[in-house]
Amino acid sequence: MNPECIFCKIADGREPAHIVFEDEISVAFLDMRPVYHGHTLLIPKQHISTVMEFPGEFIERFFLNLKLVSRAVEEGMGCQGIFNAINNRISQSVPHLHIHILPRNKGDGMRHFLWPRGCYDTIDEAIATAEKIRLSVRRIRER
Ligand code: AMP
Repeated sequence: MNPECIFCKIADGREPAHIVFEDEISVAFLDMRPVYHGHTLLIPKQHISTVMEFPGEFIERFFLNLKLVSRAVEEGMGCQGIFNAINNRISQSVPHLHIHILPRNKGDGMRHFLWPRGCYDTIDEAIATAEKIRLSVRRIRER
């Protein structure tokens, strides 16, 4: 727990929130400034900031909770789909990991996520980019 963190405060009941799900490792609650009604945040109770720090032992349970809450938002809000998003450092306004779970409907007017798009000018540029990430995967797995 981080005593100053607003999401830690929600997780341990020191700050009010509209909680929709809770278990030993996570809490989900309504975003107080929703893009659409039903916009929910799922957080780990443990204070970690980004996906890159996520403890391996909780990943399966946490992802199952993401599946559960995403299904619940979809059924509860009667929407056609769900958008899951995580900001890691850039555009992250609360430095406690949170997954946005947004109800989506065709023609709902949502813009600016994953936009604008570019392209690789050449196939070699794409190959070199993929190789940089592949090398990093190898290095990280060897640590
Ligand atoms: P991000 O910009 O990806 O870090 O998202 C942080 C989200 O947390 C924003 O959508 C905020 O509206 C939401 N938020 C911040 N404080 C609270 C709070 N006390 N209760 C509910 N949602 C919050």
